[in-house]
Amino acid sequence: MDHDAGATAAPAATDFIRDIIADDLRTGKHARAHTRFPPEPNGYLHIGHAKAICLNFGVAAEFAGVCNLRFDDTNPTKEDVEYVDSIQEDVRWLGFDWAGQMFYASDYFELLYQYAEQLTRDGKAYVDSLTADEIRAYRGTLTEPGRNSPYRDRGVEENLDLFRRMRAGEFADGAHVLRAKIDMASPNINMRDPTLYRIRHATHHRTGDAWCIYPTYDYAHPISDALEGITHSLCTLEFEDHRPLYDWCVDNLRHAAREFASRPQQIEFARLNLNYTVMSKRKLLALVEQKLVNGWDDPRMPTIAGLRRRGYTPEAIRDFCARIGVAKKENVIDVALLEHTVREDLNRRALRGLAVLRPLKVVIENYPEGTVEQVQAVNNPEDSSAGSRSLPFSRVLYIDQDDFMEQPPKKFFRLSPGNEVRLRYGYILKCESVVKDGSGAITELRCTYDAESLNGATATRRVKGTIHWLSAAHAVQAEVRLYDRLFSSPDPAEGGRDPLDDLNPSSLERLTGARVEPSLAAAAPGTRYQFERLGYFSVDPDSRPGAPVFNRTVTLKDTWAKIQKTQ
Ligand code: ATP
Ligand code: MG
Repeated sequence: MDHDAGATAAPAATDFIRDIIADDLRTGKHARAHTRFPPEPNGYLHIGHAKAICLNFGVAAEFAGVCNLRFDDTNPTKEDVEYVDSIQEDVRWLGFDWAGQMFYASDYFELLYQYAEQLTRDGKAYVDSLTADEIRAYRGTLTEPGRNSPYRDRGVEENLDLFRRMRAGEFADGAHVLRAKIDMASPNINMRDPTLYRIRHATHHRTGDAWCIYPTYDYAHPISDALEGITHSLCTLEFEDHRPLYDWCVDNLRHAAREFASRPQQIEFARLNLNYTVMSKRKLLALVEQKLVNGWDDPRMPTIAGLRRRGYTPEAIRDFCARIGVAKKENVIDVALLEHTVREDLNRRALRGLAVLRPLKVVIENYPEGTVEQVQAVNNPEDSSAGSRSLPFSRVLYIDQDDFMEQPPKKFFRLSPGNEVRLRYGYILKCESVVKDGSGAITELRCTYDAESLNGATATRRVKGTIHWLSAAHAVQAEVRLYDRLFSSPDPAEGGRDPLDDLNPSSLERLTGARVEPSLAAAAPGTRYQFERLGYFSVDPDSRPGAPVFNRTVTLKDTWAKIQKTQ
């Protein structure tokens, strides 16, 4: 599948990786750009993966190339088909397509094994029978060279025989490993005879019990890249020191391996770090397994599935990835930027609705009993084609408890005894008195309305505040889930502590007695709204017709925009 890279327009935004690829195409080093996204199916994808996905698929699209989806499934004990399925769903949902190019590293197990025999025959790999602890002790440190294993000089025939018997299942886990024979004195520890194969008697989610030896990532990855014709193998910075080994694997097999379709080049970029969250799959798995969240798609999780359920759009996530860019230096991105991006996107597209989170009953004493009026409400002020809808107005309303104070502070422009506010799309309302129960809690407000003030028509009558409301008889009971950050501090893993000790105890608040306007009774899961004055919300899959459930995606207040302005 060759493409003519010269026919494509140069990408709008560039970075050092795009510059390298453009150069390689110009100089003819590669005839095309072929990337891959290589998740290990041991967890759900998260927002950090989204950065790698946008980069790999984005680069391929811009240079008229292809991006493969490859499951890096070389570790049988942690992998599962549930993850294989969720990864495909999430990549598609983000808006990317692997054009039928989906692979598994496990598809190459036989070839990888044959290549390892080749390295052994060439005297470039040997079977070591030291224990894991001994291997560690022999490896040396950053300041001291390693020492050769006493098994390093085994003859080719003995190595081949042992390696074949490793494959045949004759040995227990840990009895032997296959190692590359490189240089125990190398200043780069990764080059001190790295392990290529381990014995692991475990059932693999795809190959079953066909194998009891499994290749390491450092060995399998470069070969998988070369087999698939990858030209630019983009990975995160922690693999920088592994690059010589990547090159060693490709270069030492290139002439023997007729199947190699390219000489891939590894290029490292800085991973996405986001404050107030963690992106280690191990930690995310612990959150799920210990039921500290409600599954991988809990809307508080930084997973793609969680963000989707929360109401994030793929467009917002892609826009976020474009804004943070791709560079070589590690940094921490403020989660407020992600929130700002989704707010901007939803502001453009979300229909407006009225909801009351914590209802307080209001009786309008001078409004006729039994009368229902329809007032007109705008569906989206950012999009005139979205039109308007009518909302029922009647004598008994709900307003939000937050919008009333019996003894208000000075600048409280909402409702208080003797004061007026405008009801959004409706009349001016005045609070006449407060009704309380035996314990002194406010149960109801007695109010009057100005019959001449509908929808701001009387220009001479203006009041400072506007509040949202619902007609009590028409409102639909709903559950609204409000979210706060999952972790309390900006760096939950600071100083090596366990982030699970830093969980924010009030990250989820469920309001089961909320009310929404009647048009939302049967809102479809996944639909997104702005509830005026309250934020952006999405309909949760737990919703049932007549009993809707909403997740607050993000509040309306934009701290990020403020930060930007003051800087
Ligand atoms: P683990 O947490 O188990 O070490 P991982 O985060 O490296 O796993 P993989 O499934 O191996 O997860 O990642 C697939 C690809 O996504 C890799 O190329 C990896 O570099 C990239 N990736 C993972 N995390 C981030 C991140 N935070 N920012 C950018 N890219 C990432
Ligand atoms: Mg990894």
